[in-house]
Amino acid sequence: MPRQMRSLLAAVLGACVAVSAASADAPIVVVSAVIETEPVSSDGDAADDSCVWVHPDDPAQSLIIGTNKDGSLDVYDLHGKRIQSITGMEPNNVDIRHGLGPDGSLDLVAFTDRADNSIGLHRVDAATRKLEPVRHGDGLVTGMEEVYGMCLYHEPGTDNVYVFVNSKEGQVEQWKCLLRDDGKVGLELVHAFEVGGGLEGAVADDEAGVLYLGEEDLGIWRYDLRALARGEVVRSLVDLTAPAGRLVADVEGLTLYLGEGGTGYLIASSQGNHSYVVYRRDGRNEYVGTFRIAPANGIDGTEETDGIDVCAADLGPGFEWGVFVAQDGLNDNGAQNFKLVPWHTLATAFTPALSTSGADVRD
Ligand code: CA
Ligand code: CA
Ligand code: CA
Ligand code: CA
Ligand code: CA
Repeated sequence: MPRQMRSLLAAVLGACVAVSAASADAPIVVVSAVIETEPVSSDGDAADDSCVWVHPDDPAQSLIIGTNKDGSLDVYDLHGKRIQSITGMEPNNVDIRHGLGPDGSLDLVAFTDRADNSIGLHRVDAATRKLEPVRHGDGLVTGMEEVYGMCLYHEPGTDNVYVFVNSKEGQVEQWKCLLRDDGKVGLELVHAFEVGGGLEGAVADDEAGVLYLGEEDLGIWRYDLRALARGEVVRSLVDLTAPAGRLVADVEGLTLYLGEGGTGYLIASSQGNHSYVVYRRDGRNEYVGTFRIAPANGIDGTEETDGIDVCAADLGPGFEWGVFVAQDGLNDNGAQNFKLVPWHTLATAFTPALSTSGADVRD
């Protein structure tokens, strides 16, 4: 978008965006990774997004699930070792919800598959720590020319689980997950709408009934999902890209640190300046701070990050207060990979420190 037009838009939207003193040059908190995953098997821009599976009994056995958009969905242990690679797909973004289904045993992983513009659905088997496909319906494709970002949404107070999938053309489709008695999960299109420009980053706040969408050139949108269910579009901007806002295009991955009682943080990958911007999850998404991941511990920093994920659960020794995972666009020892920063390290690098009281992912 031309600079002039963007400034005009910012002026018009000024009333609903709290970016009056915003600057992409705000002081940046510096943290470092303690673990990096094995590089993905494809060269070039291949790794993209991740999510964290939390083991029901043994936190240290939890897993990082990462996409290689040129060919596989990969599973890493918390030491960064790849323990499963599912090929024959081109997954771009990935998300997870724990404890679904009538007996609360379904840990559902969903992803956008650019190989056939579909939504992939797998479950994590806690006994084997392996992913296995559960999607019912072969050849089930979206109506989009090219699927891109996505997130899961578990509607508050119900058993309804949805996948929001978006495209570079600014379209969004909402698909309902149909949990079947045979363990398979079907998908049914329930809603479609247009946002504007090209989208990718997406995350849903289940408790608040909110969908955050990253419009790559423009900023972060906040959609009211209860209004959307009534067929109304109620949306506001959380932040804009520079010069009007704190983000530097592209706006990439979005993720939520889920604290207790609806508290926590919304975090965005500000790809253009290799940093991550933190906002409050509650209230009006007030700006909290900005951080980047610098080299230390024998691990390089992160640059040009696409997807990010944060998990607030106890993940065992080293990650007792959870983990922040960032894709690294420029890995110094091979193809792209994912870097892991303990949430406690990240939280205490801020003044005042960020909260470390995370909510239970299986509640
Ligand atoms: Ca990239
Ligand atoms: Ca994701
Ligand atoms: Ca992108
Ligand atoms: Ca790097
Ligand atoms: Ca490295």
